[in-house]
Amino acid sequence: FEQSEDNLRSPICCIMGHVDAGKTKLLDCIRGTNVQGGEAGGITQQIGATYLPAEKIRERTKPDATLKVPGLLVIDTPGHESFANLRSRGSGLCDIAILVVDIKCGLEQQTIESLNLLKMQNTKFIIALNKVDRLFGWKKCPNAPIKKALKQQSEDVLNEFNIRLTQIITQFKEQGLNRELYYTSKKMGETFSIVPTSAISGEGIPDLLLLLVQWTQKTMVEKLTYSNEVQCTVLEVKVVEGHGTTIDVIFVNGVLHEGDQIVGPIVTTIRALLTPHPMEELRVKGTYLRHNEVTASMVIKITAKGLQHAIAGTSLYVVRPDHDLEDVKEAAMADMKAVMRRIDRSGEGVYVQASTLGSLEALLHFLMSPDVNIPIGGIGIGPVHKKDVMKAGVMLEKKREYATILAFDVVVSQEAAELAKAVNVKIFSADVIFHLKRKFEAYIDELKE
Ligand code: GDP
Ligand code: MG
Repeated sequence: FEQSEDNLRSPICCIMGHVDAGKTKLLDCIRGTNVQGGEAGGITQQIGATYLPAEKIRERTKPDATLKVPGLLVIDTPGHESFANLRSRGSGLCDIAILVVDIKCGLEQQTIESLNLLKMQNTKFIIALNKVDRLFGWKKCPNAPIKKALKQQSEDVLNEFNIRLTQIITQFKEQGLNRELYYTSKKMGETFSIVPTSAISGEGIPDLLLLLVQWTQKTMVEKLTYSNEVQCTVLEVKVVEGHGTTIDVIFVNGVLHEGDQIVGPIVTTIRALLTPHPMEELRVKGTYLRHNEVTASMVIKITAKGLQHAIAGTSLYVVRPDHDLEDVKEAAMADMKAVMRRIDRSGEGVYVQASTLGSLEALLHFLMSPDVNIPIGGIGIGPVHKKDVMKAGVMLEKKREYATILAFDVVVSQEAAELAKAVNVKIFSADVIFHLKRKFEAYIDELKE
């Protein structure tokens, strides 16, 4: 395929920032939905994704906007502290990010964590200086470009705006970053990337969308050029009524068809390619659109036989006629092998279960660090089932304290819980890694007494 502005895939944009900065609400505002209002405690618990087709972006910006990309794929990352690792995987897949900062709070702990991840991955980002409507006396100008909205404000509001903006620019300087309001220069780029927004009344949303599209299509042509080499990562493995076990994938580049043979680490054939309707969230329950063929970028749900063996966080490979299946299988196993190497060879240790390969890696890394040093006998990904309890139960006769499952950010099936109780396998669940360690150590102490 030719590298040109006429052959671009949709940029993938990740939303990051401190909890409550307004990440989900911003997306809601762009889509005209209310996902945030329906969340437990208002916290985003899973990675969500939304596809914004170019025509929708045009509607929200201006009719004559030059849009060379087919759309934008926006990923909303979990805001919860314990998902730091998932977040790092999320941002690694992204072409550009939006870092949401609450104008009344400035840079907070998770803003800085997000900044460090972005720096590490060398991902360019736009700063949404959100909640401008909370400046005292703000006059709402629904969905107006920010310059126009600021013109309507009183001197007092403008003063507060400028004071807070200057403080936040200083905070960015302290992080080694030189950032200014985006419209203070015609030059596009990292320096001029602050966009004031309100996720409630929509001021600055046109600016944000336009900057995202123009920046990516102008400066990332090479990265965004469509390719027929499939690049795809499994986000989640889950059971969906009527479809069996399905996988949600971030499909970064290439083309997928119904009937394609896929590997990762199972070998199977795509039965159906499903997407949410445009502008809707993948995680909101509803109907799906079925496709014969999908071109990147997109988040898709794949149905196929054997997907219960797929693993979140791993890459998915497609076997084309000119590929050797064994080579593809080997490539698919590489990610897994790196994790497997961490299990104790003696087989003596606790059983560790996590939601994704990424979170498992993070948990193993923590448990094996010198000051924690909990031996690991076995690992699993996904919900805790009876078979996991049976595997952990092997330790009952060797070292009773290791007949334990540390379950990180996964559900424990009723049957598994009952079996564990019956055979005396302990299950500790938590969605913060540190809590698992504390629970396990308290248990060890209790046994010693
Ligand atoms: P997240 O944790 O970053 O996803 O934040 P949410 O989107 O869940 O928003 C956190 C809270 O801030 C919710 O109560 C939102 O209604 C509120 N909020 C978000 N954006 C704005 C905004 O621009 N203006 C005002 N006034 N409130 C906002
Ligand atoms: Mg959220």
